[in-house]
Amino acid sequence: MPAKPPQAAGRPKDAGESKGGSKPCPECGKPASPATAPFCSPRCRDVDLNRWLSGKYVIPGRDTDPEDAE
Ligand SMILES: [Zn+2]
Repeated sequence: MPAKPPQAAGRPKDAGESKGGSKPCPECGKPASPATAPFCSPRCRDVDLNRWLSGKYVIPGRDTDPEDAE
């Protein structure tokens, strides 16, 4: 019974999003790609991932350069 159109719910779409797309890449600000969301490309995703890992994956205990500690 296709009596009413598909968009007749009167539900407000995502307010603020001019384009019905995704958010900009947090790395470079370019439009994100669905394949690599929320990043625009695998490169930006990798950059962010590496940054995250370098900040989280801290080796417990100093096993290298014992004299170069802060
Ligand atoms: Zn990017």
